[in-house]
Amino acid sequence: MIKATDIKLVSPTWIVPVIPAGVVLENHTLVISRDQILALLPTPQALTEYPDAPNLQLEDHIVTPGLINAHGHAAMTLFRGYADDRELIDWLNNHIWPVEGQFVDYDFVYDGTSLAVAEMIRGGTTCAADTYFFPDAVANAFSHNHFRGQVCMPVIQFANAWAKTEDEHIHKGLQFRDDLVKNNPLLTTAFAPHSPYTVTDHGFERTLLYAEELQLPIHLHLHETLTEVQDAMRQHGQRPIARMHNLGLLSPLLQTVHMTQLEAGEITLLADNNVHVAHCPESNLKLASGFCPVGDLIKAGINVAIGTDGAASNNNLDMLEEIRTAAIVAKSVSQDATVVSAHEALAMATINGALMLGLEDKIGSLEAGKLADFIAVDLSDLSFAPIYNPISQMVYAATGRQVNHVWINGVQLLADGQFTQLDSQRVRANTRQWQSKISAFSRPI
Ligand SMILES: [Zn+2]
Repeated sequence: MIKATDIKLVSPTWIVPVIPAGVVLENHTLVISRDQILALLPTPQALTEYPDAPNLQLEDHIVTPGLINAHGHAAMTLFRGYADDRELIDWLNNHIWPVEGQFVDYDFVYDGTSLAVAEMIRGGTTCAADTYFFPDAVANAFSHNHFRGQVCMPVIQFANAWAKTEDEHIHKGLQFRDDLVKNNPLLTTAFAPHSPYTVTDHGFERTLLYAEELQLPIHLHLHETLTEVQDAMRQHGQRPIARMHNLGLLSPLLQTVHMTQLEAGEITLLADNNVHVAHCPESNLKLASGFCPVGDLIKAGINVAIGTDGAASNNNLDMLEEIRTAAIVAKSVSQDATVVSAHEALAMATINGALMLGLEDKIGSLEAGKLADFIAVDLSDLSFAPIYNPISQMVYAATGRQVNHVWINGVQLLADGQFTQLDSQRVRANTRQWQSKISAFSRPI
């Protein structure tokens, strides 16, 4: 039963619903009732049908679905700028893993994730796929801030502060799912075996067993670098994708991350098995990991979403910057300027992310009956003038700084650029404390 008092109207200059594709609506109003989108109507009709509802008028704003960050490690925001300008393996072995070994515990993950959530909400991200140790801390930081996400259950063969063996990771992950995910409407979960080079065949087999039984996705770094592929050839005599295929992992439940170094036959294999790809262009560029052939993947019919990866290898969580990079790098790599249009880039960061997470019926587009996750981006600044095509300005000229209003599940979390619930002073104070501890441990060169 919809009560008249629950209804709110949002009337921006432009609305891009993402579905149907390529549409920009002018003089339209989004009608919200509690956590849901009730309708998308011409503004005069909305005002006639709901004369008493509060109407937020947003001149020179474009309203779109909330952005979905398809891959990240939120807590690693505390390592932003800690070790830059290094190759992936040197970065991991000699910098990130030692400092993680020293500091990662429940509090580190909770505080780091809270910092990331603040940055993500500020920049228009309303849902994120996250994988890190202490998923219970991630889940609590997400839900305490009313943030939506897929909080993954990590699996890795190395002992760490959260679990010692692959089997213990899986066991603790399943317990986490029972305790924190099952009854939380904002959260879903997936297994996240870290990568082919950090998980054994046994770890993958056990993961797959539970994933199939529970119909849970598997989120996996795959073909991130040429070194990963060369090492796999030496160690296993096959490329990582072939090994995953032989282990039975390629399926619509598989969310692969990075996917550089792809051969034509591998792209066909991914397409045949309906595997999803989370493309992280800025992390790939910064770590010189290689290029994901996004144009070829799209041509093959593969669902490609966009992620920032962790802030330690990006170095921010700004999804508007990420979609701009995704669009322009895809054009360069394909040597075809028509590949990944502005509309397609936004779709990758919204409905494609939702599809990867199995949430395409709930979020990712502005349609009646979907959940009210949406953002308003301010295009009034002179740097966006003139506006022939607002979606072009949003994708190619704006950054997260222009996001002015954010709603998740019908709750407005950012209003006129200010947090309505999140305590940014507390996040700042906690971050300062971690900065002094981590600086005292070692000063990166
Ligand atoms: Zn990653």
